[in-house]
Amino acid sequence: MAFLKIENLRKSFGKVDVLKGIDLEIEEGGFLVLVGPSGCGKSTLLNTIAGLEAISSGSISIAGKVVNDLHPSERDIAMVFQSYALYPNMTVAENIGFGMEIRGVPKPERDKAIAKVAETLQIGQLLTRKPSQLSGGQRQRVAMGRALVREPQVFLFDEPLSNLDAKLRVDMRTEIKRLHQRMGTTIVYVTHDQIEAMTLATRIAVLKDGVLQQFGTPAEIYNKPANLFVADFMGSPS
Ligand code: ADP
Ligand code: MG
Repeated sequence: MAFLKIENLRKSFGKVDVLKGIDLEIEEGGFLVLVGPSGCGKSTLLNTIAGLEAISSGSISIAGKVVNDLHPSERDIAMVFQSYALYPNMTVAENIGFGMEIRGVPKPERDKAIAKVAETLQIGQLLTRKPSQLSGGQRQRVAMGRALVREPQVFLFDEPLSNLDAKLRVDMRTEIKRLHQRMGTTIVYVTHDQIEAMTLATRIAVLKDGVLQQFGTPAEIYNKPANLFVADFMGSPS
């Protein structure tokens, strides 16, 4: 059964139709990758799932509940962006625990949650450092920790590795895959990198100009591309 279900989703900005009737679904614990060229609507689709953008028509449901009109904070979703602004004056632990602190979670409970996330992400030894004392990859891990600590039902990533150098990208990709296998969280992950899509996804959705070109397993997309665009974009053998 679909855990996240998107039906005939349309989104326009003024007269510009950006998403033109998208149907997608992913099962609980699945890893859905949205892939496509720059400007095809990936971030817009992710933002509608998060509730950061209102939809024009269609519907989005999570765990059987339509969330179209729910505020982002009511959606049990956490998002990791490409640019991850950490609070420079706070330690890693404070950065991860800040949201909980705001919500009034008592310190012992906060510390426990922070320790658990730090262990998962292998940043336990960094908890007392400031962001300026971290590498790019470590900062990205802290940003993930901040999202993870909320234990969301759905985890959204918008090109989280785009700003990292090639070697780090590969390391972090492995890290995200391991994280998914360990936690079993449902993930929707945006990238324009076909290798990232092929290695991470349980299901891939290929978008072009706001239209879904193909939706399938990595093997289906690679071996039986629906059209020339998909074949070309995913580098399928010809
Ligand atoms: P991607 O993430 O795939 O690169 P986006 O979802 O960011 O693509 O953008 C898709 C299209 O929607 C682009 O043409 C972009 O200019 C347009 N767009 C995105 N956000 C807005 C906005 N707030 N107002 C107007 N147009 C927007
Ligand atoms: Mg984008």
